[in-house]
Amino acid sequence: MKLYRVRKSKIDNYGLYATKDIKKGTRVIEYKGKIITRIEAEKNPKYDNDKAIYLFNINKRYDLDGDFNFNTARLINHSCDPNCEVTGSGLKVWVYAIKNIKKGDEFSYDYGFGFDEDFKNYPCRCKSKNCCGYIVREGSRWRIKKWKKKKL
Ligand SMILES: [Zn+2]
Repeated sequence: MKLYRVRKSKIDNYGLYATKDIKKGTRVIEYKGKIITRIEAEKNPKYDNDKAIYLFNINKRYDLDGDFNFNTARLINHSCDPNCEVTGSGLKVWVYAIKNIKKGDEFSYDYGFGFDEDFKNYPCRCKSKNCCGYIVREGSRWRIKKWKKKKL
């Protein structure tokens, strides 16, 4: 039985939801895609973007491009309080639960976007208590807070 199903998301468009209670550390779904060399990734204008959210670094030589319809895991939304993370294992990439997840909960992970001039184009609607309002990686969210203070 699959651990996930696709449903209309409360965060954005579609999302993946837990079909049963899942323990922390469980592999939820494989993040499928095409393996490309890092040189290809650097040359191809498709990836010429800091927000290439479907591109995962596997190791020094390879990246994984998950920008394909067969990659169901691409539907997982960003959250400021995520319950999953995406990690490589050999040449495969998996979405792991980093918390115990209850049946019916939506899966999410931190997209890891940096803080740059176009962060405003990526509002976050995750509605978690610590939501900073934009899709920015955890380590850079203090910059959003600083920016909001300046605006007041
Ligand atoms: Zn958020």
